[in-house]
Amino acid sequence: MARKHSRYDPYEDLQREEAEEAPPPPCWLCGRPTGKTLIWHHPVPKSRGGRDVVPMHSICQQTLIANFTNSELQRYGTDVDGLLANPAIRKFVDWVAKKDPDFTAPQAKKQR
Ligand SMILES: [Zn+2]
Repeated sequence: MARKHSRYDPYEDLQREEAEEAPPPPCWLCGRPTGKTLIWHHPVPKSRGGRDVVPMHSICQQTLIANFTNSELQRYGTDVDGLLANPAIRKFVDWVAKKDPDFTAPQAKKQR
C-alpha cells in the first residue's frame, strides 16, 4: 500500500512566481505604483495616431477621459505636467494619492 505523496505543490510554485515579479511601474499621472490592474494608456489617442503607451491606473485613465476630449489629449500628448496643471486633475491626483493602488471607483459625475 504505497501512499503517493506529491513532491511539489503547484500552489506553492504560483506563490513563488508572484513574489518574484518585478515591482509594478509607477502610474504616469499620479506617480503611485500601479496595482493589479495596470492600464497601458495612449497619451495621444490611438485614433489620432498615438503610438506611445504609458502605465496607468484604470481610475486615472477614466479621470483623464472624463475631463478631456480626444483633441485636448492629443494637444497635451505626453506632457503630463500640462495635464496636471488642470485644476480637476490636480485635485484628483491629490485625492487619489492616499488611496490603495488597486482602488477603483466608478466615476460618479461625468462632467460634460
Ligand atoms: Zn494613477
